[in-house]
Amino acid sequence: MDIEDFLKNNKKRENISSEESLLLHKCENIILQAISYQRGKKTTGDIKCCDISQNNSCQGQLSITIIDVPNEIRWECTLCHETGTIKNWCKSPLLISNIKQSLSQKAIQKKTIFLNENEFYEILNLAADFSELKELISLAQRNKDGFLISPDELNSMRLLELIALRCEILQNRSQALEKLKEEIKKYFKEKAPLPEPFLLFQT
Ligand SMILES: [Zn+2]
Repeated sequence: MDIEDFLKNNKKRENISSEESLLLHKCENIILQAISYQRGKKTTGDIKCCDISQNNSCQGQLSITIIDVPNEIRWECTLCHETGTIKNWCKSPLLISNIKQSLSQKAIQKKTIFLNENEFYEILNLAADFSELKELISLAQRNKDGFLISPDELNSMRLLELIALRCEILQNRSQALEKLKEEIKKYFKEKAPLPEPFLLFQT
């Protein structure tokens, strides 16, 4: 089986039949499990023979080998010994959307600066004018322990950069401002996470 056969322009084909759709679903289930297996090493997991093979009643477990190049998943039933191959697993639409989702969740986590209430009020004091103050307040989300600041636009990042600079030149910085400066620095260091090795196979 080749994942490519179910796709058009890297997306699930529109004219896909219900049988094909079911088959793709079965393959993608295996792909999502096998992606965590060590590459090139036969692994027996929870997937059963009847989940993928023609042998609808076989309860044997599959022994699976996942390889990046060629991009294949090879399976063999440990009971009835039926075998099969899933080619181009890295093009699975479900796998790609899962990876994108988990990357964007990571990006959101990394894009957040946490401040307690006092620290947040200190940052507000550093606003130069009303529009900066308004922007800072709009960036912050209150939670039970304090405030989360999630700058998502260039302008907001620019503002935080300015605030960090103002912290830097202030004499007698309070502890809160010290921490704020560090948080902002950390934020800028982490804001462009490198793609995971897997994504290099995409596009
Ligand atoms: Zn079997």
